[in-house]
Amino acid sequence: MLHKGYGLVLATLTFVAIALTTMAVKVGMADPAPIVRSLDSMSYVVDSIGNELVAAQRQVAQVDTFTVTQAPPPPARPKNIILMIGDGMGITHITAATIANKNQLHLERLPVVGLMKTFSNQLITDSAASATAMATGKKTYNGAIAMDSKGNKLKTIIEIAEDKGLSTGIITTSSVTHATPASFYAHQPKRSRINREVSAEFMTQKIEVLMGGGKRYFKPKHRKDKRDLIKELEKKGYTVVDNVDEVGSKVPRKMVCLIADMQPKGYSRRGDFLPKATAKATRILDRDRDGFFMVVEGAQIDWGGHSRNSKFIINEMLDFDRSVGEALDFAEADGETLVIVTSDHETGGYSINEGSLKKGEVSAKFTDDYHTATMVPLYAYGPGAEIFSGTIDNTDIFFKSCELLDLEIPASILEARKKSEIEGLDATTELDSTDIMEAHGADFGTGYGRRFNKK
Ligand code: MG
Ligand code: ZN
Repeated sequence: MLHKGYGLVLATLTFVAIALTTMAVKVGMADPAPIVRSLDSMSYVVDSIGNELVAAQRQVAQVDTFTVTQAPPPPARPKNIILMIGDGMGITHITAATIANKNQLHLERLPVVGLMKTFSNQLITDSAASATAMATGKKTYNGAIAMDSKGNKLKTIIEIAEDKGLSTGIITTSSVTHATPASFYAHQPKRSRINREVSAEFMTQKIEVLMGGGKRYFKPKHRKDKRDLIKELEKKGYTVVDNVDEVGSKVPRKMVCLIADMQPKGYSRRGDFLPKATAKATRILDRDRDGFFMVVEGAQIDWGGHSRNSKFIINEMLDFDRSVGEALDFAEADGETLVIVTSDHETGGYSINEGSLKKGEVSAKFTDDYHTATMVPLYAYGPGAEIFSGTIDNTDIFFKSCELLDLEIPASILEARKKSEIEGLDATTELDSTDIMEAHGADFGTGYGRRFNKK
């Protein structure tokens, strides 16, 4: 009969061996190179993947000393990342949707939760600056589309991923040229009146999937340069449609779906475009063995906040949540996909003061009709999810995603992060109320944008 201690050693040996095998599979034994080369603040990732492998190997060698302790597991590395942004989505927006939906959301399926600071170089960010922070790792001025406060173009994570051979996709319920999506692939000093410039910039990118509104910005009739960008897209191998259902069960290699001439309608008239687009895009992008990076935006949650309208918010939230469900279904089956769900800022200073869980009713108040400085929630599921817990900055979305996908961070961005000062902090923004109105595609009521007029 085996001695009890001997049994313990055997069990431990087996455990360490399994752990080692798992790590080897996940990080690739042949090349345990550090993911981030010069980021001090992120050295824990290097430690956990590089050094712990060595440490674990030593432990196996010394197992007969009875001193084996299990090292904490390294963060797993995803092949794909799906970044989902609820524009203007604060904790109350999520709560309202939860109440309206029999006390449950797909969001609850994501086990890792954190909080994110949304500041731009202003206390109150706009969607352009916040998306730029998430897309490029740099804080900038409100209204900037992937450009810094000195006028430099900033390389986006989509561009970096494409350079490395990954596939990429962008889906939104706004125009595809709108601030949030545009900040992931275009570079413009100002967010308003640049739709045609943004669609032209898309033509210079290698992005495989683009879905949302804004069809007119691709048509010669609405362009000074008379370019027919739809035709050009088809020549470049894109399947171009104006409805996701048009392709049926087919999975095109590259797809552009433009569902509206300008801004898509609200959920009740738009239907299930966003969840369907999310599901379709995962299938298109999953063809790439190198992996993919995809952005999905629930753009109109923000517009519900600006119009102080709970019903508007809840409809858009539930549509966004069903899209989260689609992304999670894919990620669960795939096993190599990290899903991150967060927001660019809170809109409305929204709070629930009355209502009924039984009836699914919400009675709420808004402290304002613009964005607030309140931190936003972040949820994560899948390999690497754990490094998104705690309190993080919006720029961390870029840094952590680059780490996990082993994407090269531009030297100037690393340099700026080390200094940890925000360029042009509190500088006066150039946005005026016209910019804000056009930026959101509609007039959401009196007083809208007044914060920007108040200097
Ligand atoms: Mg947006
Ligand atoms: Zn907004």
